[in-house]
Amino acid sequence: LDYASYLKNAIRTVPDWPHEGVMFRDITPLLQNPKAFRLLIDVFVHRYMDADISLVAGLDARGFIIGSVLAYELNVGFVPIRKKGKLPFTTIAEGYELEYGNATVEMHTDACRVGDRVVLIDDLVATGGTMMAGYKLLQKLGADVVEAATIIELPELKGGELIRSNGLPLYTVCSFD
Ligand code: 5GP
Repeated sequence: LDYASYLKNAIRTVPDWPHEGVMFRDITPLLQNPKAFRLLIDVFVHRYMDADISLVAGLDARGFIIGSVLAYELNVGFVPIRKKGKLPFTTIAEGYELEYGNATVEMHTDACRVGDRVVLIDDLVATGGTMMAGYKLLQKLGADVVEAATIIELPELKGGELIRSNGLPLYTVCSFD
C-alpha cells in the first residue's frame, strides 16, 4: 500500500453530516492513529524541508492541528487564520461564499512580513473558498505563498482548479470523488 492510500484508508466518511446529502470526510481516525499521523506530517515535512519556508499559516480549525506540527518540524513560526471575532489584536479580514450564506476569516496584521515564504495549510479543499480567503490575507501583507497544502481534495467541487488558476500551487495527499 502506498502512503497516500494508507492515509486515505485512515479517513472516515460520515454520511449526512452536518446535514443530509453531505459525505463528511472525518480525519479524527487518522489523527488518532499514531502511525498515520506521523506519516502524514512526514509527507508534508519532506515536501517543504528544502523549500526555504519561513512560516506556516493554518486555517481554523483542523488546519491548526496539522499546521502547528509542520511549523515545529520545519523550525518556523505558525500563524492561525481564524474565523471572525476570535483574534484579540488588530486584524485584516476576508469574506467568502459558503454553500448557504457566507463567512469571514481574519489574521493579525503583524502575522507575517513582506517576503515571508509561507505554506498555507488546511485539512480539506472543497470549493476552495476557505483556502482562497487565507491566500488573499497573506497576499495583503506581502507574503510569498509558496504552496497551499491539504490532506483531502474533492475534485468534483473544483476548489483545486480555482486555487491553481489563481496562481497558487496546491498539494494534496489524497482525493475523494
Ligand atoms: P471550502 O471552503 O473549500 O468549500 O471548504 C473547506 C473548508 O471546510 C475547510 O476548512 C474544511 O475543514 C471544511 N470542510 C468542508 N467539508 C469538509 C469535510 O467533508 N471534511 C472535513 N474534514 N472538512 C470539511
